[in-house]
Amino acid sequence: AKHAGRNRIAFFEPSMQMQVEERLSLENELAHALGTSQLEMYLQPQFTMHGRPVGCEMLVRWTHPVRGILSPAAFIPVAEESDLICRLGEWTIREGCQTLLRLHTEERPMTVSVNVSPRQFHETEFVEMVGKILRETGAPASQLIFEVTEGLLIDRLDQTIARMDELVDMGIRFSIDDFGTGYSSLAYLRRLPLYELKIDRSFVRCTPDDQGGTAIVQSILSLAKNLNLKVVAEGVETPEQSRFLYSAGCDFLQGYLLAPPMPFKSWLQKLKAKEGM
Ligand code: C2E
Ligand code: CA
Ligand code: CA
Ligand code: CA
Repeated sequence: AKHAGRNRIAFFEPSMQMQVEERLSLENELAHALGTSQLEMYLQPQFTMHGRPVGCEMLVRWTHPVRGILSPAAFIPVAEESDLICRLGEWTIREGCQTLLRLHTEERPMTVSVNVSPRQFHETEFVEMVGKILRETGAPASQLIFEVTEGLLIDRLDQTIARMDELVDMGIRFSIDDFGTGYSSLAYLRRLPLYELKIDRSFVRCTPDDQGGTAIVQSILSLAKNLNLKVVAEGVETPEQSRFLYSAGCDFLQGYLLAPPMPFKSWLQKLKAKEGM
């Protein structure tokens, strides 16, 4: 292979070589970080227009011993290239269930949304795994929401729908994440057992000043209304966006304007502080 690779080695830019090594080491490090305190779940709440918190999304954080806090955008794609995403995903769902129980114990029930990647969803044992976690934790499935992207629907649509139906039978609800950025056909929407759509931040960012972006958001809202789906806007950063989105009929808002992602303890403190006022 060494001889044959002579030309190929010349072909490799040193920077590409670095990237490959970088990915491999990140993958190894992530495998070791799983199950340690390096990985932690933050949660970002979602609110009604009256400011009532109705749910929260679980977002993973990795405090790397050398690199510092890493954004999931830096390591989820790496995990998705291997079975690591399934191990990470199982942990994520377990954490989601534990958060549900804690919220219940604190007498502040709300929905908990967990990101489920396509590769994880298509794993043979996925439904069994979810059922097992629900049984073991005793978490109320009716408060659990799975966020999936349109990428899930590219192939094996019948299998995907059958699987979603099974999970819906357990009580779980489904949300389409980053809605509008992926798959172009909307025909699938009628066939899926969905609860909600999440409008991607790239559209929310355009409201209310940009005409095109605003028109897209309004179309998504009327589509959702006709299909009887809830709508969450993500990445809400300004009061103008918030006013526009609620007046346009958005059900829930999520974003830095309302609250950033934070550890469970901080969220509980915030809730208590709000009630004390
Ligand atoms: P996402 O599902 O679209 O999550 C929303 C992202 O927007 C989060 O980034 C959140 O911190 C960020 N965000 C929230 N509000 C605002 C805002 O007002 N302005 C801006 N600019 N950003 C806001 P984060 O936590 O870095 O996560 C990035 C992506 O990584 C997520 O995008 C999700 O696709 C993925 N991800 C995160 N946690 C998990 C996980 O546990 N499992 C899987 N499979 N994917 C995850
Ligand atoms: Ca999400
Ligand atoms: Ca999203
Ligand atoms: Ca997004």
